[in-house]
Amino acid sequence: MKLHHLKGEVCPDCGARVKTEEQTSQHCNGEWFERRLYLCGAEQRWIPNFSRMQWSAPCPNSPEQLAEKQRLNMEAQKLVNYIRKSAFTADEQSKIFDRIRYACAFDNHIFNSAGETR
Ligand SMILES: [Zn+2]
Repeated sequence: MKLHHLKGEVCPDCGARVKTEEQTSQHCNGEWFERRLYLCGAEQRWIPNFSRMQWSAPCPNSPEQLAEKQRLNMEAQKLVNYIRKSAFTADEQSKIFDRIRYACAFDNHIFNSAGETR
């Protein structure tokens, strides 16, 4: 499909190719809402209301997103280390880690590097 407003065949941050693109609905001014999803997960939209492009999902490989992910993982590592040194039993720690793991998108190695066996 050829979109009218969203240009570019690759994610500007990481070079990932387009996964899907579509015109989702037509505005009363005649222009179409456009959506383009890249293989990396970044999602770009054209909003005809104000004739503007916006990113509804940033590229996970952009410098800003990588820095944020690194910051979150560093803080999560501190939390895991604290829990490991606490008086919680191994079983209790495992349950806490399960909650943290699924509540946040931290890298799994954080939990393994702290000594967790699974
Ligand atoms: Zn990307």
